[in-house]
Amino acid sequence: MDHTYKLYAIRYGHFDRNAAANFIGGDAHDGPMPLDYFVWAIVGESRTFILDTGFDASTAGRRQRQLLRPVGEGLKMIGIEPDQVQDVILSHMHFDHCGNHDLFPQARYHVQDAEMAYCTGRCMCHSFLRHPFDYEDVASMVSKIFAGRVDFHDGTSEIAPNLTVHKVGGHSRGLQVVRVLTERGWVVLGSDASHFYANFEQNRPFPVVESVSDMLEGYVTMRRLASSGQHIIPGHDPLVLERYPAALSGVTDIVRLDLDPKPTA
Ligand SMILES: [Zn+2]
Ligand SMILES: [Zn+2]
Repeated sequence: MDHTYKLYAIRYGHFDRNAAANFIGGDAHDGPMPLDYFVWAIVGESRTFILDTGFDASTAGRRQRQLLRPVGEGLKMIGIEPDQVQDVILSHMHFDHCGNHDLFPQARYHVQDAEMAYCTGRCMCHSFLRHPFDYEDVASMVSKIFAGRVDFHDGTSEIAPNLTVHKVGGHSRGLQVVRVLTERGWVVLGSDASHFYANFEQNRPFPVVESVSDMLEGYVTMRRLASSGQHIIPGHDPLVLERYPAALSGVTDIVRLDLDPKPTA
């Protein structure tokens, strides 16, 4: 049995803003530095795992983000039927990572203890900390807990052969990254452990943060877990689409992360 995985980054949304908003302390050369929004598919020989579930059209409207393509549509383009998916991993509970509550009716959801404790506990009394969370997302997860559809993880956990989750915290208290074996080695899907390449490559933390020290340690952890710096995938960087080969001809915003990045010009 081949226990390597194919990996896809599937863009579904976009948000224009400037670099100063992406680093604590701003940016000396402030200019446009937009965010892309992704979900990721981890496709093994016999099982498929989805990392994060994105947001839907109504959340996009309320939060004034651009929904480029509904998440389910992007998955179908690469042959994944959402209603057949058995496992969803949530990196954390921010609105752009855990919406589309009914898209995966068969799935079990994998989340860290610390993340659910955080987004249902006293920190949510503070609007500053609550801002990236939507009540509907949290309520939906609680309903899934009561339906017996949630697997809790505490720290490092093996979800399948050569597929592990690792709590790093920092950006949100129970943020987890995913480590996956591919043909090119160990890839770390960092999600919001690092929004951009620049955050972890230059050790410049992102300003939405629960613990700056945990965020910086998270960069170290990702480097330890990944086969190289080129095996770390940031959560919101449009450069991911430039660096990795397209999964489908004629589609620029679904890329293969299990294949080597394209040589830079
Ligand atoms: Zn986040
Ligand atoms: Zn995010």
